[in-house]
Amino acid sequence: MNTRVQNFVGGDWRDASSSAFVDVTNPASGRTIGQVPLSTAADVDAAVQAARAAFPAWRSTPSPVRARVLFRLKALLEEHKEELAIQLTQEHGKILAETRGEVQRGIENVEHACGMPTLMMGDTVEEISRGIDSASWRQPLGVYGIITPYNFPVMIPLWFWPYAVATGNTVVIKPSEQDPLTHQKIVDLARQAGLPEGVLNVVHGGQEAVESICDHPDIVGVSFVGSSRVAEIVYKRAAMTGKRVQTLGGAKNYLIVLPDADMDATLDACASSIFGSTGQRCLAGSMLVGVGDAHAKIRERLMDHAASIRLGDGLDRATEMGPVISGAHRDRVNRFIDQGVAEGAKLALDGRNPKVDGYEGGYWVGPTVFEDVAPGMSIGTEEVFGPVAAINKAKDVDEAISMMHGSRYGNACSLFTSSGHAAREFRYNAGISMIGINVGVAAPMAFFPFGGSKQSFFGDLKAAGKDAISFYTDQRVVISRWSAVKADPHNLPEGS
Ligand code: NAD
Repeated sequence: MNTRVQNFVGGDWRDASSSAFVDVTNPASGRTIGQVPLSTAADVDAAVQAARAAFPAWRSTPSPVRARVLFRLKALLEEHKEELAIQLTQEHGKILAETRGEVQRGIENVEHACGMPTLMMGDTVEEISRGIDSASWRQPLGVYGIITPYNFPVMIPLWFWPYAVATGNTVVIKPSEQDPLTHQKIVDLARQAGLPEGVLNVVHGGQEAVESICDHPDIVGVSFVGSSRVAEIVYKRAAMTGKRVQTLGGAKNYLIVLPDADMDATLDACASSIFGSTGQRCLAGSMLVGVGDAHAKIRERLMDHAASIRLGDGLDRATEMGPVISGAHRDRVNRFIDQGVAEGAKLALDGRNPKVDGYEGGYWVGPTVFEDVAPGMSIGTEEVFGPVAAINKAKDVDEAISMMHGSRYGNACSLFTSSGHAAREFRYNAGISMIGINVGVAAPMAFFPFGGSKQSFFGDLKAAGKDAISFYTDQRVVISRWSAVKADPHNLPEGS
C-alpha cells in the first residue's frame, strides 16, 4: 500500500498546503510505500494555533484525568504492539526483534508518564521564616515543539510527547520524513485513547518545518534529536526566540575491553552494539579498544562473528541484520569506508556492495571492520551510522580512556571487565554521560534521564526521567503568611 501521509491538526487528519512530497521506501526492497508532504511555515502555524487553543482546557484538566488518557494509550499500544513492530520493520528496515524492542521501550515511557500526578508534585517547607510557609508548584508552559530522527521513529517521539502532555502542555511534533508511518498509527491510538483535539498535533516535513518550529513565537520550548550538525543549529535558532531547548546529537561510542573480561559475553555485547539496527543507533559502539591481551582475543571473536552475519528482510526470521535507511545513506556509509582505506586504515572486513538474493533493490551494507585506525582518520572520528567498526589496541586502560577523550562526541561508552574496582574507576573518569559496564548499549530507561555530553548534547535538562518533568514545567514558588504572628525583626533567622 502506498500511503499519502497527512498532518494531524486540531484532532483531524488534513493535507499539508505544500505540493512537494518525499517518498518513504521499504529499505529492504527499495519500493515506495508512502509519500510525505514537505509542510510549510503556514502548516506549522496552523498546528501551533490548534495547540495553543487546546492548552487552557487541557491545562485545567485534573492531572489524574490526563494520566488516565495515557493509561488507555498504554493498553492500546500493548494491544497493537506486533502490528506496530511489523510496520516499523517495513519502513525502517531493522529486524523484527529490534522493532519489538523499540515499541516496548516506547511503551515504557508512556507507562512512566502515567505516574505524572506523583511525578510533578512540588515541595513545601513550613515555617521557613516566622509564620511563613513556602511551596513550589509545577505548572505547564504552553505549546512545545518536538523534532525527531529516523532511527527510532516510535521510541524517540515517545521519549517526549507523553511527558509534555501529561504535565499539561500541548504539542506540535515533526517526525522524521524518512519513516513517519508507524507513528501515524500511534497518533490514531492516542485519539482513540481520548486525547482531546489539539493536544497533540503532527506536521510532516523537513528543514522549513523545523525552522518554523524554532522561530514560532507561540512555541515555548523545543525537544530535538538528530545529528550534531542539526542539533547545534536547532539549539541556537530556537534559543534566539527565548525558548527552552534540549537537543540530542550524534555519537562515536567506545567499547573498551580489559583482559579480565568474560570474552564470550563481551563479544555478544559488542557485536550487538556495533551491528544491531545495522549500526544506526546513537548508542552503537563503533570504536572497539582491546587493552593488552584482550585485543587479540576480542578481535578474533569479532571477525568470526561479523563475517557470519546474515543480511536480509527484517521480517524474515533468519535475518540477523537489515538494510540501512536509504540509498543516499548507503552511499554515505560506503564513502566513509572508501575514505578509511584512502587514509591508510586496514580494512579487515569489507561490507561494501553485498549481494542479498531477492532484495537487489534494497539498501545494503555488510558488516565492516577496520584495524590500525590512527588518530585523526575520519573513520575513527566521524559518526558513520552504519555497521562499521574499528578495532584498536591500547597498552592500558588509561591509554584507552585517553583515546576516547580525543573524540568530540560524548554520548555513550562501555567497559568490559570482571573487576569492580576497574569499573568504579572507569565510571569516575569516563567523562561521558551514558556508561555501560559489561553492557554494550547503555540503553535509555524511561525512569532515568537520557542524553550525552560534549558535541552529543546541547542544553542542560535531558530526555525522560526527572529531567523531562523539569523541562516541561516551570516551578512557581509561593511564599505565604497566614499566621497571626507579626514579623519581628529580632526573631527572624539570619538573612530573612
Ligand atoms: P538528522 O539530523 O538528519 O534529522 C533529524 C531531524 O532534523 C529530522 O526531523 C529532519 O527532518 C530534520 N532536519 C534534517 N536536516 C535539517 C536541517 N538542515 N535543518 C533543520 N532540520 C533538519 O538526523 P537523522 O539522520 O534523522 O538521524 C540520525 C542522527 O540522529 C544520528 O546522528 C544519530 O546519532 C542521532 N541520534 C541521536 C540520539 C541521541 O539520543 N543522542 C538518538 C537517536 C539518533
